[in-house]
Formats: sequence, structure tokens, C-alpha cells
Amino acid sequence: MKTKISFSIVCFVLWSSVILQAQINCDTPFNPDNLKGWNIDSIRSTEGYATAKTVRVVFHILRNDDGSNAAATEAYIEGELTKIRNEYQPWNICFALLGFTYINNTTLNTLMNSNTSAHRTALFAYDWSNALNIYCHKELRNNNGTGLIGTAYDIPNTHLSIDIPENFDGVLSHEIGHCLGLLHTFETAIGNELVNGSNCSTAGDLVCDTPADPNGNFNSSTCVYTGTTKDANNQSYNPMVNNLMSYYFFCMTIFTPNQRTRMYDTIAGVTAIGNMTMQTNTANISNKNYTTGTWWGASRNTLNVGNIASAGNVNSSGSADVYFTSNQVRLKPGFHAYPNSNGKVRVLTYGCQF
Ligand SMILES: [Zn+2]
Repeated sequence: MKTKISFSIVCFVLWSSVILQAQINCDTPFNPDNLKGWNIDSIRSTEGYATAKTVRVVFHILRNDDGSNAAATEAYIEGELTKIRNEYQPWNICFALLGFTYINNTTLNTLMNSNTSAHRTALFAYDWSNALNIYCHKELRNNNGTGLIGTAYDIPNTHLSIDIPENFDGVLSHEIGHCLGLLHTFETAIGNELVNGSNCSTAGDLVCDTPADPNGNFNSSTCVYTGTTKDANNQSYNPMVNNLMSYYFFCMTIFTPNQRTRMYDTIAGVTAIGNMTMQTNTANISNKNYTTGTWWGASRNTLNVGNIASAGNVNSSGSADVYFTSNQVRLKPGFHAYPNSNGKVRVLTYGCQF
């Protein structure tokens, strides 16, 4: 049985050179029925990869009922955003932060069970429909009592959860990879991939440039695979220990070109995830009066906020929580912000490479 890795064990693993068998769980299931309509490895996207893809993300920070015990700070989330941008940037996939929300619910913060439908329903009620929703918990587990580092609940998907105390490098990119259509490199739901790659488009993770992966032993200090099991042809495995969709934690840093293809196809509209793609390069916001609730304005390159030509003003007041995010945000004449103590106006640049 897989057990939750404790902070002390993490420290021990980092400090020593122990050979660590993958024991940290993400628990994201793959339902082969989801393959319907998918572009699998042998089918290439018709869209050019030179065109950057921008995925809108919103972070939901769980807190206890009384507003205490926040799972994460906004500064922490900003740091995570930098990490995922760096890991996805080589493949021209970027992330636009639409904003943060806070959810006060002790159960969902400290006892979130990915197998409990009532928990899932209560959580996903907070989804923003136009974004990849990232939920941050103090404690995340499954029915077996196994602690999870994170989970994407399904593949592909538009929401995921991460256990902040156990969210070490690579975890968030791993869960986002699931949301964007990537299976574990060691997936066996539709068959065991052979080392010789002959069945790579019909078994394993359905990605042919990720070698067969038995999810075996590895040295977490040197990132060298040390497993000795063999496949059905009696061939030894040589898995990609640094692949972000493996379970070789502390070594996971990269995706492959064909994984990029799968993610592009997913973002491009194979599923509802297409809604997360930025559709325009520029945007103007005018004639808006925000007084309550959470609002966002986001664009890929330039976002103009305020008096556009002869259009009207943009006002933010009261308890409105308003985000303007883009590579470049221009606050034009006619923009006014006078929030009260419960309101905020945030102007964020996200520095994607286009
Ligand atoms: Zn996973």
C-alpha cells in the first residue's frame, strides 16, 4: 500500500542517496472511454506549434470556516506560477493568471477526499468556467487514507487540487499535464507499453517519444533508474526519469515533443479545455462599472483599460475585486479605482514569451 510521504521522509530522501521506489501518489485516474474523439500520438495537430498557447488559470485558496489556516499565500502562488511558466515555456505554452479566490470551508481545506463525491461537488461548484481551476488545500487524500500530493480527478480536466505542504517541484506541472490530456508515463489502463515501442500508440501513455516506464526504483539524488524488472519481451526498461508525467519525483523537469502535441490538441478544442485558450491578442475594456464580486480582464499581449477612443470609463469601487492581467496593461484616461476596505484592484503582468 502506498503511504503518504512525510516531510521528514522528504528531507531524508533529499539528504541521503537512498534508492526510492515511487511511493508518492497523484491518484489521477485514466478512463479509456475518454479516448473517444482524442487525437492520439499518430495524429498530429494541424495547428502550427510556433503559435503560443495561453491557458487561463485561477487559483482557489482553501481556508477554514473562520477564514484562518489558509492553505497558501498569494506570494506562494505567484512563485508556483513562475515555476509552471518556466516548465511549459519551452513548448510555447503559457499561463495567464486570472486571479485568486478564497474559499472558507474547513472540510475542503483540511479533509479533502478526492474519492468523496460530495467533496468534489462542493469544491467544483467554485469553478470558473473560463479557466483551469487550481485548488490549494492544507490536506488532500483519498478513500484509502492515502495522502495525495495532488490530483487532477480525470484526464483531461478543467480543475485540479494540490496539497500545498507536499507540493514540491514538478507536482503542479504534473497535474496540469493531466488536465491538458497527458497520462502517466507508466499508465497501463489500456495495456502495457513494450520497451521496443512497437505498441506505443495503443498502450501505455499513448505517446511514442516517452519510453516504456515500469514506475520502478530510482535514485532520487542522482536521478538514475535502478529498477530491474523486464517487459513481456524480457527487455530491460530505460524510462525517462526526468519526465514530468512520471512518478520519479525530485527528478521531473521536462515534457517531450509528442507530449506537447497532445497538450496542444487538448487546448485547441478537443474538449472543453479549449475554453481556456486566449482567443485574442489584444483587448480593450471600456464602459465597465465594477462594484461587487470578482472580475477579470486578461489578454495575451496588451490590455487597454479605460477610455478607448470615444468609449466610456472603467470604474472599480466598493467590494469589487478586479484583475487586469496581460503582458502589458495600459491604464487609460477614464480609469478610476476607489475600492473600499473589502475591494481590490490588481494589475498583473505575466511575462509570457510570445
Ligand atoms: Zn499523476
